[in-house]
Amino acid sequence: MELDLGALNLKNVLDHSLVGVVIHAWDTSIVYANPRAMDLLEMDYDNLIGLSVHDSHWHFVDEHHRRLMVYEYPVNRVRKSGQKMINEILGKVDDETGDVRWFLVNAYVETQSGASETKGFVVVSFNDVTDRQSLFSYEHILENAGDVVIVTEADSVDGPFGPKIVYVNRAFEQLTGYSREEVIGETPRILQGKMTDEEACRRIREALEKKQGVRETLLNYSKSGRPYWLDMNIMPLYDRNGEITHFAAIERDVTESVFNSQQLERRNTELRQIKDSLNKLVEERTRQLQEANIKLEKLAYYDALTGIPNRRCFVDQLEKLLGFCRRHQYVAMVGILDIDDFKHVNDTHGHAVGDEVLVSLARTLAQHFRVEDIVARLGGEEFAFASVIRDKESSETVCERLLASARKTSIALSGGDSVSITVSIGACCLPPEQVCTIEASLNCADEALYRAKRSGKDRYEVSEAGK
Ligand code: GH3
Ligand code: MG
Ligand code: MG
Repeated sequence: MELDLGALNLKNVLDHSLVGVVIHAWDTSIVYANPRAMDLLEMDYDNLIGLSVHDSHWHFVDEHHRRLMVYEYPVNRVRKSGQKMINEILGKVDDETGDVRWFLVNAYVETQSGASETKGFVVVSFNDVTDRQSLFSYEHILENAGDVVIVTEADSVDGPFGPKIVYVNRAFEQLTGYSREEVIGETPRILQGKMTDEEACRRIREALEKKQGVRETLLNYSKSGRPYWLDMNIMPLYDRNGEITHFAAIERDVTESVFNSQQLERRNTELRQIKDSLNKLVEERTRQLQEANIKLEKLAYYDALTGIPNRRCFVDQLEKLLGFCRRHQYVAMVGILDIDDFKHVNDTHGHAVGDEVLVSLARTLAQHFRVEDIVARLGGEEFAFASVIRDKESSETVCERLLASARKTSIALSGGDSVSITVSIGACCLPPEQVCTIEASLNCADEALYRAKRSGKDRYEVSEAGK
């Protein structure tokens, strides 16, 4: 059976439709509303019929939650433009709760046969799409986000002009100084400049060529040339078929933190340098101090001319040696050695030759004794020594050997002559039971020396302590 639409009871069809239908007369007053429309507008038939949009208390908003003026209501738009309104989203606001019921709205002018179009009716049909409509607008969020958002095409990444920009948000305009009209169709490369890290750009390009996301911190330049650092997070965008068609870059201005970390890094480097130079200074000072200490110790304990221990050093060590002999019942020997007629050497050959004689004799004496013995210059041409010996006889052997060595000491003079010397020695022998004080032992040796000098020089005298 063929369907005869004219014979169909259209009212019946509309009564059962799940689409709300409202028909306005040309003056906008409502002349018809189907049950679904009443339901959606939450009004009954009597209240709806005859109601014009000017009398209504409806509040409509657009997709961006902007409140519509009465002239923007579907019926008025269609009346004014004569154009159909197709699948537009409108929200009806509940004045009490603020809730929005979203409608997918269509409207057009229906003319009755014979009547002019301007005298027609406006048919508005609407569906409840609240469930399908997001509670909020993503575009609204994008536009008002503090971060920069740039969307580019995905297919011209490796082309000479780079990927084409298809969308930028308001934060982009604010940060870069470029309007969206200026950059749509351009490439993000216009934002790069001479200090932009080429390596980072290469890494981004490589990732995009592989259709992968990437994150980098990059220096960009505003329209006026102001540089700023961006933490950029680029991600691929997929179409319904799963193809990557675009890239979205979410970028945050991190100039301040990059600047701060650069400053921090610079400060740390400076501090490191200061610390390094301070350490070097401390090392240098420590070394100088050690050297000075060594020098001081040398000055305090060693004779400057001959380099052998001085009187102070001799006294210190003699104390230890005498203590050792006392404890272990050894015989100690303390001697003083004095150059004979040294005044004559100085007077005849000069003070410098005299000095050479002193240095030469000191060397000879030092070689003569063992490490555990002591030999020192007491002052002038007077030397002292101390040694642990077996008995009094061995002290005499020591003295004889010393006299012989001294006689061999000779200093060559420029004219071919040489200077020879002799020495006199006074020694004090200290058996364990007689080991006495340093002073007493030195006095004892000094007296022996005096005797040696008195009895003709170039000889030795040995006294036994306590006798
Ligand atoms: P004696 O045999 O009695 O010891 O006579 P001497 O000439 O050795 O003794 P004297 O005490 O009269 O003279 C010691 C000389 O030693 C006097 C001084 O000029 C000299 N003399 C002292 N210290 C030094 C020195 O460091 N270098 C030089 N060249 N001579 C010195
Ligand atoms: Mg003397
Ligand atoms: Mg002398």
